[in-house]
Amino acid sequence: MSEAEETRTEISNMGEFALIEHLTKNFQLKNDSSIKGIGDDAAVLRYIARCTVVTTDMLLEGVHFDLMYVPLKHLGYKSVIVNLSDIYAMNAIPRQLTVSIAMSNRFSVEAITEFYEGVFHACKKYNVDLVGGDTNVSLKGFVISITAIGEAEKSKITYRNGAKKNDLICVSGDLGSAYMGLQLLEREKKIFLEHPEVQPDLEQQAYIVGRQLMPDARKDIVELLDKLEIVPTSMIDISDGLSSDLLHICNQSKVGCRLYEEKIPMAEETRALAFKMGIDATTAALNGGEDYELLFTISQQDYEKIKNNPDITVIGHISDKEGGAKLVTRNNNEYDLLAQGWNAFPKSE
Ligand code: ADP
Ligand code: MG
Repeated sequence: MSEAEETRTEISNMGEFALIEHLTKNFQLKNDSSIKGIGDDAAVLRYIARCTVVTTDMLLEGVHFDLMYVPLKHLGYKSVIVNLSDIYAMNAIPRQLTVSIAMSNRFSVEAITEFYEGVFHACKKYNVDLVGGDTNVSLKGFVISITAIGEAEKSKITYRNGAKKNDLICVSGDLGSAYMGLQLLEREKKIFLEHPEVQPDLEQQAYIVGRQLMPDARKDIVELLDKLEIVPTSMIDISDGLSSDLLHICNQSKVGCRLYEEKIPMAEETRALAFKMGIDATTAALNGGEDYELLFTISQQDYEKIKNNPDITVIGHISDKEGGAKLVTRNNNEYDLLAQGWNAFPKSE
């Protein structure tokens, strides 16, 4: 599905130093905390009177992404977003990034430039400075490792372990669409491999495909909570799926929960596509993952502040540990919530 490249410059002809210079020459630092960025042995940051929040993620071709249907620009963008999302999930503001890559000689300078266009797009949108990284050769596939650094007031940092009995469970945006986007892209890939002459028509599913390829990190929700003077009692970003991420909060907070199926926010497009593809929509939301929405708990006294906000939905409440972590279905049955989302180390069959 990728288009033939018009010109192809070999990385080996350009050399590592010229490549880094080529990729990063137009990038300017924006944050006061970035003292020195790319170009020396190390970057220099200065945070005054606030905590520094650090997160890192590794993405491997064939494990986390498939270049058959993920354009490199989108991959660059999304690789940054998943890291920023982790910083926002601490109720913190990201400021800097390092991006390390390893690629085989299959990749040209033009391809890597495209990847960096996506990285810069995300940096610009979220006001984050690229301050360093490393460039390497891999024997097979494309490897990405990104570290994001941010800041927060100590009293506002939100951990996974602070949820209390009777707190309300809230989620931003809607769920399940990134998973349905993946199903759609996988299906088109299969059709393409069998019938290369058939052009995929993904236009009608722009929202769903966009949620898979170009997700947003919920900066706006962190800013909104600050404006409403709400410090959530716990928070996590939904990367593995609602069930497994809610279970992380329950386990770390040593509490139980009741999650109501009918309250789980889903876009109409997502429900319709799930129905068409014979996938249970609730399952897509519970186990799908990659939504990068924020899942958080608030104390009941903050309910008035969020109750009319269209970007936040209350989907249940926290109970005591003895009650377990339960899903209450539309017809009022109760099931144990199970972590069936993404697992980096699946059991062999
Ligand atoms: P060193 O040999 O000391 O590791 P490098 O030549 O790898 O130095 O890096 C030189 C500078 O370029 C450093 O500031 C480093 O952080 C930056 N850099 C290297 N690779 C990348 C990359 N892929 N993306 C962004 N910055 C990079
Ligand atoms: Mg280096």
